[in-house]
Amino acid sequence: MAVLTSRVDGARFLRASPAAQARRIAFGGIQIECSTYSHIRARMEDFTVTRGHGLAEDPFFSLLKAYPYPFQPTLLATAVPGGPVERQTYDQLKTEFLQRLKALLPLDGLYLAMHGAMYVEGMQDADGDWIAAARQVVGKDCLMTASFDLHGSLSRRTIDTLDMLSAFRTAPHIDREETAKRACDMLVHCLDQQIRPTMIWSPIPVLMPGERSSTLYEPAKRLWAQLPAMNAAPGVLDASLLVGYVWADEPRATASAVLTGTKPDLLRTDALSLAQQYWDARKEFKFGVPTGTLDDCITRAQALQTKPVVLSDSGDNPTAGGTGDRADALATLLRHRVQNAVIAGIADRPATEACYRAGVGATLPLTVGGTLDPVGNPPVHVTAKVIFLLKTDQLPERQAVVQVDGISAVLTARRRPFHEIRDFTSLGLEPTTFKIVVVKAGYLVPEIAQIANPNLMALTDGAVNQDIEHLPPNRYRVPTYPFVPDLQWKPLVVVGARSPHRDA
Ligand SMILES: [Zn+2]
Repeated sequence: MAVLTSRVDGARFLRASPAAQARRIAFGGIQIECSTYSHIRARMEDFTVTRGHGLAEDPFFSLLKAYPYPFQPTLLATAVPGGPVERQTYDQLKTEFLQRLKALLPLDGLYLAMHGAMYVEGMQDADGDWIAAARQVVGKDCLMTASFDLHGSLSRRTIDTLDMLSAFRTAPHIDREETAKRACDMLVHCLDQQIRPTMIWSPIPVLMPGERSSTLYEPAKRLWAQLPAMNAAPGVLDASLLVGYVWADEPRATASAVLTGTKPDLLRTDALSLAQQYWDARKEFKFGVPTGTLDDCITRAQALQTKPVVLSDSGDNPTAGGTGDRADALATLLRHRVQNAVIAGIADRPATEACYRAGVGATLPLTVGGTLDPVGNPPVHVTAKVIFLLKTDQLPERQAVVQVDGISAVLTARRRPFHEIRDFTSLGLEPTTFKIVVVKAGYLVPEIAQIANPNLMALTDGAVNQDIEHLPPNRYRVPTYPFVPDLQWKPLVVVGARSPHRDA
């Protein structure tokens, strides 16, 4: 790794080093992506909270065991993206995290595994709040690193509180582990070499949905492709570029370039270059696959000789913050009298429970959709035959497959994505046998992309509507492209407050 071979030019030394084996590092964090256009709230039952020993033994974090110092677990709270986090839930999670962190003091290092697009009711910059609260506990001498999703939005407070950070470099995200490793390599390197690095941030007033900024397609492909070489230069510990999160009513919602290292002049040059290139490319960001209305996409799919046509119901994508309870696609398929289609899935607990009560083979009247967010979200009334019920003791894990005319629809008790083939096969569905496979997704994750023949993206209604230029106006967003199409801008850098080179 370049991180481990970087020179320490110009870096200032921290306090006298205790013996290497005495290094004490903690880790934890909170990860959720919240659309402020969503009417639902993320509550405690929506989070998976892994604590203490459970977190230490989490297979994802087995990468931490390769370091010479033990990483001590606090807690990690993760949730399927959705609406704003209920304030009480956030406060409770934060309080427990801070208590666990306090119990591990004194600490030399802290690694925070964040997403970066959390929104908490009544609070701006919730990720910054979490990070700043951690800093208060660990004190000024502790080095803090963090990993972020590519769709995280940074803030001045975050840049002023952390010592270093790294963000995913791929969308779809296939480099989660590499990113965590970059963030932690840097931390261990800085502790070993007694470096406090400089962090330089250039916020870029551009907001794009992930579907127009996938790193599989230009211009994102070439913008992100230069990061490894930039990162390999002596004096650069990390080079990150973030798209930010567009469905957030927050001033911090912008794209960002962030450089961490020990050569402030180089970091500044790189940050300005990335920011300028991103800005110059702003009009090139486009969807990577054909798009249209649901009607358009279904008509086009039926005319194709190939299968399965994977149709993304992109406005209701729960992995971007959509609610996942909309039945528009079902209604449209029925209107087009499509045969041999599958919809996976619609979050509808009452309909799912009704199927479990009726049993496999039963035919029943069902009202599907609009149970979580009824605003502008009409349900569909159908007669359905239950063809499969997932065996599980956990009520939220229940999933029912029903047949409605020629359409198989998966109903789920909780909001969940269908990102893997086994999500289908575990319900007795073989997606490649269908003419049309509707998924609540934006861009497809690789496993589903591989079977798509082809993929069409329906620009549907929902909490993550891809037609961002026509989103309702919000209160706090700073002027950004494309909301201000003729915006004038020149890149600027902010040097993190903890950097030794504040005058860089
Ligand atoms: Zn993301």
